[in-house]
Amino acid sequence: MKKLLVGFLIFLVVFITVSFLLFQVSKSRTFQFFGEIVPRVETSQKIIALTFDDGPSRQKTDEILQILREENVKVTFYVTGAEIEKNPGELEKIIAEGHEIGNHTFDHKKMLLVSPSYVKSEIVRTDELIKKAGWTNEITFRPPYSTKLFTLPFYLSKNNRKTITWDVEPETYVEKSEDLINHTLDKTKNGSIILLHIMYNSRAESMKSVRPIIRGLREKGFEFKTVSEVLAMEN
Ligand SMILES: [Zn+2]
Repeated sequence: MKKLLVGFLIFLVVFITVSFLLFQVSKSRTFQFFGEIVPRVETSQKIIALTFDDGPSRQKTDEILQILREENVKVTFYVTGAEIEKNPGELEKIIAEGHEIGNHTFDHKKMLLVSPSYVKSEIVRTDELIKKAGWTNEITFRPPYSTKLFTLPFYLSKNNRKTITWDVEPETYVEKSEDLINHTLDKTKNGSIILLHIMYNSRAESMKSVRPIIRGLREKGFEFKTVSEVLAMEN
């Protein structure tokens, strides 16, 4: 009886430890179990990609497009299928301005313990909406919260698609616009992929930071490219 109890306790400890480790690994920006994950592109050139996640929203699409137009910058938007459907016409505007579009799933759920058929449906439905809006080039993929375990990376690698994450995420560390700008200028390197959220009213500090970040990085000699352009210039 005692042996059984000890055995059970050992099993429990191992189970909890493995679960905890897998959970930590699932959030990694730099590791996944199958296929290629790209937090930053290895390049000797001073090129970078600015990326915006979520949306397209009705509140903020016009505002961000105007800033990007005035600063003459092309960026990459990772959009969700649900938001494309909810806000018809917004994605078309983004595409018309020459920005790149990536797939950020349909429902923006954590892609952790999800079935293969769920993964496929999240990706395929969103791809279809992106194409329907007029996007004809390659669609890269970014998981919400960078969360993935087995089924998602397996599906992506089978379909020859890369997981695009990021190496500069100022919002994780600071809140105020000034700090977001400083953090970004400080951490950006050749081939960096910068993540910001600007699509909702709650992200006013991030929106305020976009123009100074663009100008500051240009001053440092960086040139803005879309994600697929930076990928194509890998060393
Ligand atoms: Zn997101």
